[in-house]
Amino acid sequence: MLTQNLGYPRIGGQRQLKKASEQYWAGKIDLTELNRVAQTIKEENWQTQLGAGIDLIPCNDFSFYDQTLDTSLLLGVIPPRYRPVLSEVAHNQEIDLYFAMARGYQKDGLDITAMEMTKWLDTNYHYIVPEFTADQEFRIFNEHVFTEYTNARQLLGQKAKPVLVGPVSYLLLGKEKQEGFDRIELINKLVPIYVEIINRLGQLGAEWIQLDEPYLALDLSKKEKEAFEFAYRQIASQVSDVKLMVATYFDALLDNTALAVSLPIMALHVDLVRAPEQLDEVLALTPDPLILSLGIVDGRNVWKNDYEKSLKLIDKAVEKLGKNRVIISPSCSLLHSPIDLDGETALDPEIKNWMAFAKQKLNEVRELGQIVDGNQTLLEANKKAIQSRHASHKVHKQPVKDRVAAITDAQRTSAFPVRQQIQRERFNLPAFPTTTIGSFPQTDEIRQLRANLKKGELTVEQYEQSIEQATIDAIRWQEAIGIDVLVHGEFERNDMVEYFGEQLEGFLFTKNGWVQSYGSRCVKPPVIFGDVSRPNDMTVRWSQFAAAQTDKPMKGMLTGPVTILQWSFVRDDQPREVTTNQIALAIHDEVQALEAAGIGIIQIDEAAIREGLPLRKAKRPYYLNWAVKAFRITASGVDDQTQIHTHMCYSEFNDIIEHIAAMDADVITIETSRSQMELLHAFAHFDYPNEIGPGVYDIHSPRVPSTEEMTTLLSKAADLLPAHNLWVNPDCGLKTRKWPETREALTNMVAAAKLAREQI
Ligand code: GLN
Ligand code: ZN
Repeated sequence: MLTQNLGYPRIGGQRQLKKASEQYWAGKIDLTELNRVAQTIKEENWQTQLGAGIDLIPCNDFSFYDQTLDTSLLLGVIPPRYRPVLSEVAHNQEIDLYFAMARGYQKDGLDITAMEMTKWLDTNYHYIVPEFTADQEFRIFNEHVFTEYTNARQLLGQKAKPVLVGPVSYLLLGKEKQEGFDRIELINKLVPIYVEIINRLGQLGAEWIQLDEPYLALDLSKKEKEAFEFAYRQIASQVSDVKLMVATYFDALLDNTALAVSLPIMALHVDLVRAPEQLDEVLALTPDPLILSLGIVDGRNVWKNDYEKSLKLIDKAVEKLGKNRVIISPSCSLLHSPIDLDGETALDPEIKNWMAFAKQKLNEVRELGQIVDGNQTLLEANKKAIQSRHASHKVHKQPVKDRVAAITDAQRTSAFPVRQQIQRERFNLPAFPTTTIGSFPQTDEIRQLRANLKKGELTVEQYEQSIEQATIDAIRWQEAIGIDVLVHGEFERNDMVEYFGEQLEGFLFTKNGWVQSYGSRCVKPPVIFGDVSRPNDMTVRWSQFAAAQTDKPMKGMLTGPVTILQWSFVRDDQPREVTTNQIALAIHDEVQALEAAGIGIIQIDEAAIREGLPLRKAKRPYYLNWAVKAFRITASGVDDQTQIHTHMCYSEFNDIIEHIAAMDADVITIETSRSQMELLHAFAHFDYPNEIGPGVYDIHSPRVPSTEEMTTLLSKAADLLPAHNLWVNPDCGLKTRKWPETREALTNMVAAAKLAREQI
């Protein structure tokens, strides 16, 4: 039984690449050293995969920043603004051009902005968006992919399989930088370059070449489908002696199935973790002699594969196609998994036995192959682990399940206009009330406190005393500059999800479960392994402490259920919707506790609600319904006089505005400053009835906006929406900012609100 892998994490088991890149950027190590670190990681990865007995092992999946950016350089898609850098950097320092494209370039009088970065489909990995012009030309710009292959081949021989972003997905991942053309039309010019690359790889000895075409699992226009047909027909007719494999993932092929199976390629990879139900249709349409690669081990989660379940799918495929036409594989690149579970020495051994990281997933792929070839012992061991998880009291809490099952629709007692009236009387806020999104600067000092507490160098008491002092200072300062609704500053929180996860049951935290988010940035998501409950109050102590320091209203600050879900590894033994509802009930109870403690305004952040949107349009309404309902559960049961806020970062609300309205938060704050309030049009068209705080300044840079600038934004907002519904606040939390710019910017913001009260 042939096995393969589609891609392996490249950050290094100890995040060596992160550290080396950051040192290189800071000028602390040279290129030779950076390359040495990269080479070590690559070789280790290849050895690991070889050792795991994988037959087709990816190469060219390593990247110093992002594989889409690598592809742009390979194809010579370099936006014209980088030309000066190109002539600045010597040929052997091409990596500086590469990093300039990823991160911007400020040196020797040059100041060039970075390329845009966005989410890789529905993952938390971010890629660098290719930029195309109408007269875009392509050429083989560098030799990287060829040296990578030659290098891999020395170690792996015929097993080395170069990976490329496929031509159609590459175009679709990008953006037109000029009006008047559709980037998909560039396929004519692009295909000959792919032909050249593939032929050269073939001449170097490559047997298989993997082309990633995730867009085959997305909604495609007629033109885009035709581009697929055209590209692969052209490529197939002009390359020789290589086997082409097209990899799809993250959703089912659905209406693109006939297209995908009819491409003139040797093998097609499908994601049977996300979409096991597609197997029947795919098999029914698979023509002779197309080989099917079954994505059967979850590349995006941390759970041990259920062999019995997987074998049903494999058997079905083998029955139809025969063993020779089936390959076993992870569902997608393992880039999205943490690297090695063996390093997690502090985990509860029972729970650890239910988990698998990238390295363990490779073994699963091999073992599944061995079981198909007759090894029954492996199956028995797996069954035991799966059963232990199914039956464990650590996972299953009947009262939690009963409570979720009993949820009916959740809503506030009265409709918004009634609540608004009552809340206006209660809080008596001025027009254009000012507030912030929650966090104040997490200074080195604050982080150090937490580190010292962990190391035992501070007692809990000493730690809390220092946090109390930071909170008091922030409150005094907010009062002094005249903010209307205060926050406590979130100094006690490491992270808006981790802080809650650590206090909820059903969550665990790994020591080294890092996953690349972008470039050198890695995240370590919590793992939701069991039914979620809230043994104790989580935020009441700090909110109550803060509220007692002032006569002004103090917002309670919570993270919403969808955001907690979205930024965690989620259990795969029940629908995401059920897990979300469990979290929603826990947050609901916290809301109740805050209200009982006298907190009159409570913000429930749902920063990630948009991120959870399914890739396929047809699946979105279902998701939005349960996501919105989860939010409503958190806010239900509070008095009319309690004001519920929510906050969302990544905006772009056009297609989901009715669902945002259905959340029925009394106040929503959103990120709008960089779009010059454009994002408010969706709210205006919809006649959004509730109150809204469009961000008036960008918190992503230290730049301090002037009062005038913010007043202009406010009057733009007031042109679009009823002025009496508007709040004044920054785009998002201020934890990544420093105090000096925060002080200046918020002082200007309060002045802008005062001007607005007079002028608008
Ligand atoms: N309350 C959070 C903060 O201010 C919200 C952050 C976010 O939306 N990402 O930090
Ligand atoms: Zn935000």
